[in-house]
Amino acid sequence: MEGLKEILDQMSGASGEDRALVEKAYVFASQAHKGHKRLSGEPYLVHLVETAKGLAALGMGSKTVAAGLLHDSIEDVGILPDTLEKEFGKEVRFLVEGVTKLGHFKYHGAERHRESLRKLLVATGQDARVLIIKLMDRLHNMRTLRWVPEVKRHRIAMETLEIYAAIAHRLGMGLVRKELEDLAFEYGYPEEFKETKTLLHEKAKETRSRLEHMTRTLRKELAKNEVTKFETDYRVKGFYSLWQKLMRKDRDMSKVYDIAAIRIVVPTVADCYRVLGIVNNLWQPLPNKIKDYIAFPKPNGYQSLHTTVFAGDGGIVEVQIRTKEMHDKAQYGIAAHVIYKEKGGKTPGGRATSFDWIRSLIPGFGGRAPVPKLSEQEKKRSRYGAPSAPEWLANLDEEEVDDPDFETTLRTDIFTHRVFVFTPHGDVVDLPLEATPIDFAYAIHSDIGDHVAGVKVNGKMVQLDTVLENGDIVEIETRKGAYPKRKWLDIAQTTLARRHIRNALERENK
Ligand code: MN
Repeated sequence: MEGLKEILDQMSGASGEDRALVEKAYVFASQAHKGHKRLSGEPYLVHLVETAKGLAALGMGSKTVAAGLLHDSIEDVGILPDTLEKEFGKEVRFLVEGVTKLGHFKYHGAERHRESLRKLLVATGQDARVLIIKLMDRLHNMRTLRWVPEVKRHRIAMETLEIYAAIAHRLGMGLVRKELEDLAFEYGYPEEFKETKTLLHEKAKETRSRLEHMTRTLRKELAKNEVTKFETDYRVKGFYSLWQKLMRKDRDMSKVYDIAAIRIVVPTVADCYRVLGIVNNLWQPLPNKIKDYIAFPKPNGYQSLHTTVFAGDGGIVEVQIRTKEMHDKAQYGIAAHVIYKEKGGKTPGGRATSFDWIRSLIPGFGGRAPVPKLSEQEKKRSRYGAPSAPEWLANLDEEEVDDPDFETTLRTDIFTHRVFVFTPHGDVVDLPLEATPIDFAYAIHSDIGDHVAGVKVNGKMVQLDTVLENGDIVEIETRKGAYPKRKWLDIAQTTLARRHIRNALERENK
């Protein structure tokens, strides 16, 4: 029961009922995975506890923590979804099934499909909690990657870099992203990792003593200006993000100014601007390096004031100034957003939420454009029965929207607009609802579309007008003598396919 205690220790504010649910999940998981071992030889339960602990530490609710304990029970030990629902309720079942589904998608390294795969994961996640569980699962798997056979490590590391770290970034989860990236960097690019590590080591000593000195000076100066409530610390850049920056700066370490940064956390937004003035007065700032991400947050919701200053000893250092809430959101992202919402807090600066990225994933919802309503016909066509366009997306901008539970508001209904299917190689193709194999064929290549002879969906021959469903594996058989038919124009849903069909029919007429 040691593991259970560790999880509950992270759930300080939880009710007796919440604790009971987590305990029940713990007992259930330890029974279900009895005798089941990790590649490290450890009991499988260790992995489940670590996943759940990470979720509890992020402040997630008891159902999410319970789902963290149960997340491999369907896939690995054959527990039935119905059993989960009977024991733990609909929501826990939904979360575990969601994570199980995500586990089936694999990254194959095709550049052009990378964005589709990310979208697919988000869409399949449907609920940000599913993604957060998956990220905590992946984090522990990365921490224990050395036990995985070498042949598999590289693929898993690349998948982590390209897909999961990117999702963590979009969710604004800075700490998770950094750890995922640094763990994956070591296995994905071993040579570059070693090189970067050595470079950072050489720099670290000089940097640390400079930062300590600057922090002392800064504390005195703030006190002199009667700023009494503040915290300072400093952070060193992650290996992977340092390496990426080095690539952009011709591998010249002296051009990277934010290897280390001083952070100042103050109570209010007004304090942030005041402290910025004090810092820029104390040390000479570099021109064009003063960034106001409070008035203009980054797309993932990040807020802070940045300035880069001459330290006076030949060094250059970045200083980041923010409120406690901005700091928590930068570290924990969407998870912190939920906690602050629950406490009834408001987003300081109030200009953006960390959800803009979700909007950007939905076709036609780019940027901050108002969310259009679906027509009656579109409503009928939506097989998920969503009543309208994702209204919660539009509402997220408004401060007064109350967000009583994460449960309903974070569900994305990307599914009411797009369907994601696979090629036999596992590449993802992103199509409109009601799309058919004809649309799929033309999305791959016009040559394939023009010579469709037959189609298999999930291994079975089907008619060309079959409506594709999420997750279908579609295989097109082509024949040289096969040509588009007029009735294909009614079958195709995409303008791309229709245009090609029309062209082909015209060519034939001549
Ligand atoms: Mn797992």
